[in-house]
Amino acid sequence: MLNIVIFGAPGSGKGTQSERIVEKYGINHISTGDVLRAEIKNGTELGKTAKGYIDQGQLIPDSLMIDILASVLDSFKDSKGVIFDGFPRTIAQAEALKKMLAERGQTVTLMLDLEVPEDELMKRLILRGQQSGRADDNEETIKKRLVVYHSQTAPLIDWYKQEGLHSHINGLGDLEKITADICTAIDKAVK
Ligand code: AMP
Repeated sequence: MLNIVIFGAPGSGKGTQSERIVEKYGINHISTGDVLRAEIKNGTELGKTAKGYIDQGQLIPDSLMIDILASVLDSFKDSKGVIFDGFPRTIAQAEALKKMLAERGQTVTLMLDLEVPEDELMKRLILRGQQSGRADDNEETIKKRLVVYHSQTAPLIDWYKQEGLHSHINGLGDLEKITADICTAIDKAVK
């Protein structure tokens, strides 16, 4: 089983790189942001709850997010592994993921930490907002999301370092080079 956590600030390229990893390694992809956006689009109760948080640039409460993740994980059959994109975003979620995988006789193989400077993140997200119309990709909400990232999510870097699973990736520059660096890190971790 290849279980990869792809980690980074909003706009660091997690989604783009996840698609490439899925294609190369044939694993499943969980993007918690995509799961929530689908719920909003379908007008479900969960979607209504999630929208309130997302529009404010805040995180969905851990207990709710952990339940959602468990049910998506259970929906995969004959999986070769999973890339977790946008989860965990808090220490509580990281601990829950560790436990959830342990219950299934699995572990996280590695955590890819995509690092991109703040001014570049801002530029990318504003551009994405113009192109895709994602409601939370506006300057005010982006700033809030970056504050949330630094206070609640960035501590996971040290947490995964302590677990011996952290792998730093330079997320700035040529897309192909970033993918190649990621594949090198994955191949090293599974050796
Ligand atoms: P993303 O598409 O990963 O940038 O996520 C968009 C928004 O969905 C975030 O700003 C949060 O409001 C919410 N969200 C996504 N994943 C999580 C998570 N693991 N925990 C809490 N909230 C999340």
